[in-house]
Amino acid sequence: MLLEIKDPNIIFTQDAILEEIQGTTALVLYADLKTPPECCPVCGCLSKLVRYGFDRSCVLMPSYSYRPNYMKLSRQRFRCERCRSVFQSETDYVRPHSTISTPVRQMVLFEALTNRSLSDIARRFHVADKTVQRIIDEEADQHNYNQKLWLPKHLAFDEFKATSKMSFIWGDGDRHEIGAILPARTSYALMKYFEGFALSVRQRVQTVSLDLNAGYINLIPRLFPNAKVVVDRFHIVQTVSTALNMVRVQVMKGLPKRSKEYRFMKREWKVFLKGFNELEASKPTYHVSVGYYETTVNLVAKCLNLNPEFRVAYEAWIIHLGIWDMKSHLAGLKATFGALRILTERRSW
Ligand SMILES: [Zn+2]
Repeated sequence: MLLEIKDPNIIFTQDAILEEIQGTTALVLYADLKTPPECCPVCGCLSKLVRYGFDRSCVLMPSYSYRPNYMKLSRQRFRCERCRSVFQSETDYVRPHSTISTPVRQMVLFEALTNRSLSDIARRFHVADKTVQRIIDEEADQHNYNQKLWLPKHLAFDEFKATSKMSFIWGDGDRHEIGAILPARTSYALMKYFEGFALSVRQRVQTVSLDLNAGYINLIPRLFPNAKVVVDRFHIVQTVSTALNMVRVQVMKGLPKRSKEYRFMKREWKVFLKGFNELEASKPTYHVSVGYYETTVNLVAKCLNLNPEFRVAYEAWIIHLGIWDMKSHLAGLKATFGALRILTERRSW
């Protein structure tokens, strides 16, 4: 049970020992697997099966200490006398011709659900980065992520950094399920991929929600002739906050580094991203950055007075936070988009 072995045909043949494997000391268990097959997997012959030596493989197992665990597994081979094909004993503990046990694969997949990097997972389970990727890919293949027959009504697009390059992901906006992950996010790659879906399938798509600065936004009408483009909320929030930070940094560049405003904006930049109502307005507290007692509201106001554009950006952000809270979309969104336009024009500073 400790080793997650459920196959009663795996029989240990000696005590575990410490052995050097691929440059590290590992705990190694020796076992045999002699499962007689019911019939020849090639021709279905029931009777003419003879033992035909062993296949020995070194299978990575779950490890319960810092050192890796391996099972040196001898699998009985069989030969069919009728069709002369050779095959090995099978077990659900490890796939044929694989050296990674099923529990390790499951643990890798489980970890892959978290926000951990491939190399972190690889180190934890004593495998190569590429192996982690392969296990994930093999799992994805089983879930038919490569189908080209169906698209949801509401598509959601995003990009993320998977390896050194940016990857593209699309999902079902209603069911919150992943549709596919592509290794590239170029317009060309996306064209090629989505053109694999029949036009009649693409015509069913009603909305595509994506990042504001997605480079492929111009492709949408071509690929999905009936779809509306929706800039999703998370991305708006992200863009407005990035814009606000950029303006803040610009304002800071115009100030002497020793000034109290500079030090406040540098040290307490997070207060600019909070809702205005959350800031301390009446009780002065000691702020290390400026070196005296003051309310946060007064300090923020002092910084906003430095530059009218900074004030505009900040107000756009606060309006947006307000929409987020009150969920009164239209009026607020309009204001935010207006402010956003101003901000994006200023990005060329
Ligand atoms: Zn056969």
